[in-house]
Amino acid sequence: MNFNDFKLHPDILEGINSMGFENPTPIQEQAIPVILEGKDLIACAQTGTGKTGAFVLPILSINANKTSNHSKVSTLVIVPTRELALQIDQQIEGFAYFSPIGSIAVYGGNDGGNWDRQRAALEGGADLVIATPGRLIQHIQMGYVKLDTVEHLILDEADRMLDMGFYDDIMSIIKLLPEKRQTLMFSATMPQNIRKLAKTILHNPVEISLSVSKPAENILQAVYMLENDQKLELLDSLVKEKDYVQSVLVFASTKAEVKSIERKLIQSNIRAKAIHSDLEQREREDVLREFKNRKIQILVATDIISRGIDIEDIDLVVNYDVPNDPEDYVHRIGRTARAQSDGVAITFVNKKQKILFDKIEKFLGTTIFKIRNPLDS
Ligand code: AMP
Repeated sequence: MNFNDFKLHPDILEGINSMGFENPTPIQEQAIPVILEGKDLIACAQTGTGKTGAFVLPILSINANKTSNHSKVSTLVIVPTRELALQIDQQIEGFAYFSPIGSIAVYGGNDGGNWDRQRAALEGGADLVIATPGRLIQHIQMGYVKLDTVEHLILDEADRMLDMGFYDDIMSIIKLLPEKRQTLMFSATMPQNIRKLAKTILHNPVEISLSVSKPAENILQAVYMLENDQKLELLDSLVKEKDYVQSVLVFASTKAEVKSIERKLIQSNIRAKAIHSDLEQREREDVLREFKNRKIQILVATDIISRGIDIEDIDLVVNYDVPNDPEDYVHRIGRTARAQSDGVAITFVNKKQKILFDKIEKFLGTTIFKIRNPLDS
């Protein structure tokens, strides 16, 4: 199957071509026709599967077919994090390059210039608004956001949004939308609260579920059993002066831990930087850019960005600790082996966290290879 089979608008097909996408991914194959038919949809799909394209492409195609002006918001995409809002907006810009469609990303941050830019863009209007719930509500309260023209609502990473406590915000935004609209919901997992939300806001949805919660097969996973005070030395030996590990993502569960790992790596002369929610939006973007450009070798991150970031060619993901939630494990290691490349994911497990890791193995239905700790000799 290729993208020509979907009857997408020629401008959007040109955008797809210029982005270098040749064949649709499985979620795109299944979701695009359903969305083009105007049906509601609930899709269980993780980042890395091409889920952004799965909703962006048909929605852009529908928008491109409209002859109306492009200053009315026809599509609202609600997402959990600024990183995801920016990434979706960037993909839209690429796909919509040859069409008159406009989009705005609306997300939080303490930067006043950002607020003014978002305000001006919202006042000027655009076909698509991609927003985090809290910041959108702040703009709505100022009175210049009109959502009564919205025809398509998309909730992306819905499970993450509920985990982050956005339920009430989402519902208060939805109240401002026309009842007659197309609603699409994407979620990596389908717990009870997501099913309930789907019942409330979707109308006879088509359900698509790809086999989720399993890491891509081309990720080599391994575990080191070790003590906390051995972790840094081991990480050091895995990455230092190794030409074949140029881009490493290290995950830890808390901000404090992330900052401390960053400090210690720098002391050990490794080009490392941390990214977490204490950083201003611009600082986060700078760090991500430096990482993408290979100016830094190691990015140390909390789970909050494990879903959002879209960086290809990460050689190695290291779980400096075991994530509490097996789903987070899948998301963390899914940052390597993006878009058909191979990747390696290593998890550091101390004695205390062994039970937690057993839970992950049970969830995955497999046993992860344990490497002998070279520091235990
Ligand atoms: P996503 O699951 O939307 O986060 O997408 C994961 C990555 O796959 C992104 O880097 C996309 O640019 C890329 N991607 C999505 N769809 C395709 C496609 N049909 N062909 C090639 N790459 C794709």
